[in-house]
Amino acid sequence: MPCKMDEKLEPIYQEVLRRNPGETEFHQAVREVLECLGPVLVKRPEFAEQKIIQRICEPERQIIFRVPWQDDRGEVQINRGFRVEFNSALGPYKGGLRFHPSVYLGIIKFLGFEQIFKNSLTGLPIGGAKGGSDFDPKGRSAGEVMRFCQSFMTELYRHLGEHTDVPAGDTGVGARELGFMFGQYKRITNRYESGVLTGKGLDWGGSLVRKEATGYGTVFFVAEMLRARGDSLEGKTCVVSGSGNVAIYSIEKATELGGRVVACSDSNGYVYDEHGIRLDVLRQLKEVERRRIREYADLVKTARYVEDGNIWTVPCKVALPSATQNEINGRDARTLIGNGCIAVGEGANMPTTPDGVRAFLDAGVAFGPGKAANAGGVATSALEMQQNASRDSWSFEYTEKRLHEIMRNIHDLCHQTAEEYGTPGNYVNGANIAGFIKVASAMAAMGLI
Ligand code: NDP
Repeated sequence: MPCKMDEKLEPIYQEVLRRNPGETEFHQAVREVLECLGPVLVKRPEFAEQKIIQRICEPERQIIFRVPWQDDRGEVQINRGFRVEFNSALGPYKGGLRFHPSVYLGIIKFLGFEQIFKNSLTGLPIGGAKGGSDFDPKGRSAGEVMRFCQSFMTELYRHLGEHTDVPAGDTGVGARELGFMFGQYKRITNRYESGVLTGKGLDWGGSLVRKEATGYGTVFFVAEMLRARGDSLEGKTCVVSGSGNVAIYSIEKATELGGRVVACSDSNGYVYDEHGIRLDVLRQLKEVERRRIREYADLVKTARYVEDGNIWTVPCKVALPSATQNEINGRDARTLIGNGCIAVGEGANMPTTPDGVRAFLDAGVAFGPGKAANAGGVATSALEMQQNASRDSWSFEYTEKRLHEIMRNIHDLCHQTAEEYGTPGNYVNGANIAGFIKVASAMAAMGLI
């Protein structure tokens, strides 16, 4: 980690551990931020006096609910739904919904906590939240997914609103699921409230570039980190983990900017092709047919599938982890460094363990932490909200230009803040400090909230 935790902050962290037992991912996310904040309290002692950090670590509201639904055989299924509305100092709660069997309160709280600072870094008026369910969409029919989404929204709708809480997609939740949820929201409330969800389909209030935004934004961020070092993506070998929304559009933009993406994966294994991953085949396989990455190697003869393989053993200059939390550990990081990796852009949320982050920083790798590097998704969601509010829709070129500017600004803010706090080139410090100061200042201005 960038710094040792300040002695004023250690008791706050201990209290977080005590009050939130068993939520290891949440603890990890809090620790990473708190480790960076010691020098901030020296410059801004009012944040300590007003107990801003203790308040930021406690969600404003946590909602947990039953989601009953019927599968295709007529059997009743019961899942658990979550929405953690973490912080609304900068705007309505904003953050995605994740459907994955691994979801429990600790995952949603880590994601919601990170979202506060990520949203702050975008410079747009959005607070932080996250939600989801332990529902596993894999292998479920479209009808089952629809019935689940309708039941999920039948409880969640009462907590949402364009000025209150605006969810979007995340792992397991794309335009199809958001469509089912928007339909149910509209039906229950009798209101066509476009601004209540983002990531919508283009025919019903969605924004161009939202689908591409997280992946594109991550690659823009990496390109900026390389530019700051007088380098570029041109000719660089890249590895992208995952083959979902973030991965696909990271591959597209990295290729467009001159990189060669040689591997991508799913939770069963990875495919490798030294000639570069073919985006048309990948999109058809994953977005249209919803099949497994293994089948990519049946379609592209130059590709090789490695069942249960560790994608981080594939040599690359640029690594773009875009699957899930803690997918790169210390050993993986050292393998990547040993193989010549010079830049990492976290497309996923918290994909690198603390040990891995330390290894990258110590080795001088340009390391873009998720809360900065993957902020393009939520930033474009905020642009979707702007378009909905003005009943307008912008062109692809204009929206991508806005996204690019936002990512450049986030990069520069993190870069400058890292320098200002005496840790040049450390984007982890830069992102945590800059993201925190804006939220903390807003909270301080609003009195005891
Ligand atoms: P998708 O559901 O579209 O894709 C997820 C991909 O990651 C799939 O290929 C999946 O494989 C793989 N994956 C998921 N869990 C695991 C696991 N435990 N081990 C290995 N592979 C796994 O999700 P997204 O692309 O939307 O999200 C990916 C990451 O990016 C998440 O961390 C998310 O929070 C983050 N993110 C997403 C944003 C967005 O706009 N969508 C915005 C910002 C961050 P399989 O099919 O086998 O499960």
